[in-house]
Amino acid sequence: MSGIRPTGFLHLGNYFGALRNYVRMQDAYTCYFMVADLHALTTLDETKELKQHVRRVLAENIASGLDPDKVALYCQSHVPETAELYLFLNMLAYKGELEKTPTFKDKVRLQPNNVNAGLLTYPVLMAADILLHRATLVPVGKDQEQHLEIARDFAGRFNTRYGRDVFPAPFAFNFGEQLVKVPSLDGAGKMSKSENQMATIYLADDDETIRKKIKKAKTESVADPTAPMPASIENLFQLLQLVCTSDVVSKFRADYEAGAIRYGDMKNELAEGMVAFISPIREKAGQIQHDESYLKKVMEQGAAKARASAAVTIELAKEAIGLIYC
Ligand code: ADP
Repeated sequence: MSGIRPTGFLHLGNYFGALRNYVRMQDAYTCYFMVADLHALTTLDETKELKQHVRRVLAENIASGLDPDKVALYCQSHVPETAELYLFLNMLAYKGELEKTPTFKDKVRLQPNNVNAGLLTYPVLMAADILLHRATLVPVGKDQEQHLEIARDFAGRFNTRYGRDVFPAPFAFNFGEQLVKVPSLDGAGKMSKSENQMATIYLADDDETIRKKIKKAKTESVADPTAPMPASIENLFQLLQLVCTSDVVSKFRADYEAGAIRYGDMKNELAEGMVAFISPIREKAGQIQHDESYLKKVMEQGAAKARASAAVTIELAKEAIGLIYC
C-alpha cells in the first residue's frame, strides 16, 4: 500500500522513490495505491486545481506502467472507511508525540498561518491509509521512513489496547535495498513537488526544460579527487545512475578520480538520459489525462476494490474495540 499527494506534477523523486516499486510489486503482491487527496487538503490554500492534479497523478501512475486491472488504484476520498479508521486511531495518538514529528515542525515553518489539526494528525491519517488494508509492505522514499515508524507504533498500540492482533506491522519497502532519496539539482535537500521547481525534474517537463535544468545544476571544481566527494557532485552521479548505463557512470567516475572530469559532458549525457527516460511517460500521461471516461472507470474500479478490503478491516477493528452491539 502506498500513496502520492496530488499537490502538483510528479517528479523523479516520486518515480524512483515510489512509483517504480509500485510497478515492480504489481505482479507479485495484492496492491493498493492511492491518490492522497485528503492529505493534500492539509497544505492546499485552495482546491481549484485539485481535480486536474488528481487526474494527472492517476495518468502518471498508469503511464509509468501501473495496470489498474492488476492493482487497486483509487482516490483516498472515495474510500470513506479511511476516515473511520483515522478517527479510531486518533484516540490512540498523543498531542505531544505528534508535535514532535519533524515533518510537522517543517510544515509549521512553511505555513505558520495555517497550522491546522489535519497537519498535526497527518501521521495518523497516513497510518489509517496503510492499516486500512492491513498492509505490511509500503513502497516509499526515504523521507517517509519516520512516518512508517509511527504507523507501526499505532498498529502495535491498537492491538495492545484492544487485546487483538488486528493489524500486522507495516514496513517501508524497497525490495531489500536502502530507501531512495532523489536529491534536488541545487544540492540542497530532495526533489519535491512544490519547493524549488528549477531544482526538480518533473515527469511533465518538456525536453528543453529538462536540458535547461540540468545545465544549471550545481557543480564545483575539486582540487583533490581522493578527498570526499562534494554533495553536489555526488548528487549528479546519483542522478546519472538512475537514467544512464553503468558504462557511462563508470567512465565519468574514472574521469573524476583522474581529476579530468568535464562536467559539461557529464551534464549533456545526464540530460539526454533524462529526456529518453521522461519523454515517453510524459506523452502517454498527457493522453491518459484527457480521457475522462477511462479515468472515471479506473477510479470507480479502484474504489470498489479498496472499499471491499477496507470493510473487512473496519469490521475487525470495531469488534476489537467493542463497538458491535447487536
Ligand atoms: P512530495 O514530497 O513530492 O509532495 P509526496 O509527499 O506525495 O511527495 O510523496 C509521494 C511518494 O514519493 C512518497 O513515497 C515519497 O517518499 C516519495 N518521494 C517524494 N520525494 C522524493 C524524493 N526526492 N526522493 C525519493 N522519494 C521521494
